Amino acid sequence: MASCAAASTERVTQALLQVTPLRKEITMVSQERLDHLAQFTDEHLAYHEAGHAVIHHLQGGTILRLSIERNDPKQGMHPAKQPTPTESADHQKALRDLVALLVAGEVAATIHGAPENVVEAGGRVDREHAIRRAAELDVDEATARAMIEAEWPRVRDRLEEPTNWKLVDSLAQHLVRQKVLDADQIRATLSP
Ligand SMILES: [Zn+2]
Repeated sequence: MASCAAASTERVTQALLQVTPLRKEITMVSQERLDHLAQFTDEHLAYHEAGHAVIHHLQGGTILRLSIERNDPKQGMHPAKQPTPTESADHQKALRDLVALLVAGEVAATIHGAPENVVEAGGRVDREHAIRRAAELDVDEATARAMIEAEWPRVRDRLEEPTNWKLVDSLAQHLVRQKVLDADQIRATLSP
């Protein structure tokens, strides 16, 4: 019995040792990521994420979580699962909506008055994401970049509408205070 228990303890220990490095990767934020985030103030991060969230909301989407917590591996905006452009019935519309959602971070940061280098640094990953999604639909990079440029002023006009900018503002301010907002708090802020 004793040796059996010892053997099983050893197996468990080995299993834990194997799992630990993986868990570390998931729960820790890399130094590279922290260095990247260090160029933004909390307000920069909050307006960028609030821009994504409000455009997603205006397109009928649901947001599950928003975070500007720097040590949070899930920092950013997390929408409820929805079909990707490839899975959607109307691919082109779904791609346009996705591009609009992705440029909205840059647009909100710009309207809020962030310096250009901060706006660009915040939007780089979003632009890469848009180009990747477009590629899945065989849309080449030049066309994807043209879509981004076309959506940019549309999203700006939309976010500059006073009722919509009020939503960005209150979501961003809420986020600066709380750092993380859950689905209920986001819904309450977007649907007063
Ligand atoms: Zn973004």
